Amino acid sequence: MTTDDAFDVLGSLADTVADLLRDVALDHPRIPGSAWFAGLLDSHPRLLVAAIVTFLVLSRLDRTIRGRRTTKDPIRLFPPELKDAARVQAGGRCEMTGPFGRCRRPGEHADHWIPWSRGGASNAANLVLACAPHNLRKSARMPSRMATRGIARRRRRYAPAAACRRPGCRWSPV
Ligand SMILES: [Zn+2]
Repeated sequence: MTTDDAFDVLGSLADTVADLLRDVALDHPRIPGSAWFAGLLDSHPRLLVAAIVTFLVLSRLDRTIRGRRTTKDPIRLFPPELKDAARVQAGGRCEMTGPFGRCRRPGEHADHWIPWSRGGASNAANLVLACAPHNLRKSARMPSRMATRGIARRRRRYAPAAACRRPGCRWSPV
């Protein structure tokens, strides 16, 4: 296979992905910006797909690098008083994001935002409330920076007095 062939294959793959994305965007006209996004896919399909793929790869790489540290907090679980405080702060509701904004299920689990296995601290700054499905889905994955900013932004609304809006804190021996 020559380089030109490889570019042809990549190009048609990008066109297929652009078609799929445009269909999804056109199927959801109520989501803000979906028409604009579909239009952009019409005019620059390959450029946009390349940008999305680059973003996903960089974001994945960023999470891998940030998740490398493995010195663990000797305290594995959150103390009950921290969980109670988090429940009050979040109004008992899951703090994760569903397809249409903040999840509506009750937040039954105290979750380490930076996973405990990746050096996340068992303190208030690293505690987020999650429903059972979100708790399972997240497991020991590093959260993206975008997800972290999203929680911080939403907390400004439902817990304006919260001491730590931006979740995530690592355990440090000093
Ligand atoms: Zn949830």
